[in-house]
Amino acid sequence: MNRRDDLNHFNLLYDISELSTLLTGSENIEHFLQRTVEVVSRHLHADVCSIYLFEDRSQELVLKATVGLNPGAVGKIRMKLGEGLVGTVMERLQAIREESGSRNPRFKYFEEADEDRFESFLAVPIQRGVEKIGVIAVQHEKVDYFGEMDVMALRAIAAQLAGAIENARLLMEILRGSGKRSETDIIESLKFVKGKSAVEGYAYAPSNILGKKYGRLLIDDHDSNPGGTIDDFHYAIHKTIEQLQELQERVSQRLLESASLIFTAHFMILKDENFINKIKALIIDGMSPSEAVRSIARYYISIFSSSSHAYMQEKVIDIEDLANRILKNLRKKAGGEPTLQPGRIVIAPDLYPSDVLKLAAENVKGIILVSGGVTSHVSIIARSLQIPLIIADRPELLNLSDDTPVLMDADIGNIYVCPSEKIVRQFEDRNKAEKTIQYMMDSVTETTRTKDDTPVHLLANINLLSELRLARDLKVEGVGLYRTEFPFLIRSYFPSEEEQFVIYKHVFDEMNGKIVTIRTLDLAGDKILPYSNAPMEANPQLGLRSIRFTMHNRDIFEQQLRAILRAGADSRSVRIMFPLISSLDEFRDAKQVIMDCINQLSRLNLPHCKTPSAGILVELPSLIEIIDDVAMEADFFSIGTNDFIQYMLAVDRTNEKVSRYYQPYHPSVLRGLARVVKSILDKGKDISVCGEMAHESGYIPFLLGIGIRTLSLDPQFMPLVQQVISELTIADAESYAGELVAQSTLDGILRVMKSRGLQ
Ligand code: PEP
Ligand code: MG
Repeated sequence: MNRRDDLNHFNLLYDISELSTLLTGSENIEHFLQRTVEVVSRHLHADVCSIYLFEDRSQELVLKATVGLNPGAVGKIRMKLGEGLVGTVMERLQAIREESGSRNPRFKYFEEADEDRFESFLAVPIQRGVEKIGVIAVQHEKVDYFGEMDVMALRAIAAQLAGAIENARLLMEILRGSGKRSETDIIESLKFVKGKSAVEGYAYAPSNILGKKYGRLLIDDHDSNPGGTIDDFHYAIHKTIEQLQELQERVSQRLLESASLIFTAHFMILKDENFINKIKALIIDGMSPSEAVRSIARYYISIFSSSSHAYMQEKVIDIEDLANRILKNLRKKAGGEPTLQPGRIVIAPDLYPSDVLKLAAENVKGIILVSGGVTSHVSIIARSLQIPLIIADRPELLNLSDDTPVLMDADIGNIYVCPSEKIVRQFEDRNKAEKTIQYMMDSVTETTRTKDDTPVHLLANINLLSELRLARDLKVEGVGLYRTEFPFLIRSYFPSEEEQFVIYKHVFDEMNGKIVTIRTLDLAGDKILPYSNAPMEANPQLGLRSIRFTMHNRDIFEQQLRAILRAGADSRSVRIMFPLISSLDEFRDAKQVIMDCINQLSRLNLPHCKTPSAGILVELPSLIEIIDDVAMEADFFSIGTNDFIQYMLAVDRTNEKVSRYYQPYHPSVLRGLARVVKSILDKGKDISVCGEMAHESGYIPFLLGIGIRTLSLDPQFMPLVQQVISELTIADAESYAGELVAQSTLDGILRVMKSRGLQ
């Protein structure tokens, strides 16, 4: 066996992805390319590694970095398409491997390169789609040194490099395009920031920096209207009420469940005589209105923030927010800046889910969170509202001043501060193209079928009621997962049974007889209630979350179950799904609570569903060993791959620092899924997948291959997923899945995926 075949190519890929990260911190593409050739030559034990980049302007390849060739040749060796082996690789967009490069008639000798000693030659194109980016080549003194594995490895490297080089080019463009050397150092160092995409999309807008929540202005501002009067104060209060009402109106159009909830605290404070009168008293005593507002707001903030109760601490944000609005209106009266400036990209350390809703009401274009800690529900809400979201561990971004133009490419997590016109144009073009593809609503058909005509059912994951319409427009066959925690998360108290009834009824009505799967409260873990006074847990993901929380809070659980059963009184398909079930015993206990609720409702003579299906959201690996028995008892199953992976691999799905260990393609994950699905299908029970895997084109063939015929996904992914499915055959999917589960290493799985172009 060739010695090269023993190399751990996975490590190599890993290093290369590290290099891409390194790139983002650097302004120098040459340095980055040089580091790359060093790493690659070391890993492949090659004597030479060189990178040539294709210049659009001259249509030539230029040697940009090398180890092994004469460093003096960098920037000097140039070749046309088709010229020499490297030019041929670029022209044909195909790899060339030669036992001895110089024996190939196309070989071209460049004197300045000093390459006459090298025999073996291997080069692959670096491309993005059909776009030519360059060529990476390795050489060795020995004849026939490089093997098939090296070709694969170099191809993988080239694929990684393509993205990194494109970024680097944009980066160079920024540097060249701006030309404004007088700009502040902050902007210079932040021109290009690499973050992690949490919600895909694109946004270009002026920035709005939120310091510690909304409070920054309050703390930092100086008095911009020292001479104001009590009338100015009245005007500002009046304006603030008007604006809040308008905001509320806008929120309720987009988010039914939050109507009248988000700004309740604001209105309550505004109506609080104490608050208003204290400010007025200070103004009458001679203080300026803005200073008086600040002073009383600070007083309230100090009281609330000293409380150990999270609910009270949340009020701090409301007061800060409200005081800022009043202050802005005072400034406006004094001819200062306008009040609300919609359409911003917000940069903040972190946010609550309810903050995202407020921002949505202000028509925010995108969100950048810089502290790295994001609850997955902030992402989920932002996704439902289609607000691009990037998480970047760069707190310096908070030092940018408001109104700095920022471009977010949240598809890949790139942030451009003060982008050049060229970059903006490039992104806008791409954005237009993507939008047309994304909104192929007309092409979505009622049923989804594979190429060989096997039906696959597509259901929707619904987080907010406002998504139901999109789901219907996209012809979903029902709701596979309704996450019920949002009405609990976006307000300051538990919703009553009646309020929940209204919300769930809306889901049943909109689905008009189609399947509706309601998941019971999945609180705690990363979804923390601001008003719950439960003590903080050291390991919330392993704590009293989900079904454990509801079983410990029977009242809350029963209220929710009664609300569901009543809301589904006229529906043909009421499916109640329990999250985070760890044992058969736990499922039986939870199911018993449904039975108790049915009995209560019968006694009360209230119309309700008498025969709901009770299902399990498979999220814990502890179910795998007992799945045959569990499958006998539950009516249906859905696999929550997000948590399934998290718990199988002990990787916090919200922790950016360990995100590379979150590997859906881990052999234990794939085998675990295959095993669960097989057992459930053998028992003739209904099974779907509702985690993120369900919409990822790289995993859909695997899921179909192990027998899944129902996927539940965010509605916006419907057109894409339908398209992916229509191009697959079940036989192919089965053989692919078989190949994957036969692998026992990550490396092996990646290889199989790559061989199908799915990685
Ligand atoms: C899952 O864990 O895959 C799931 C669907 O639930 P959530 O993302 O709400 O935790
Ligand atoms: Mg889950």
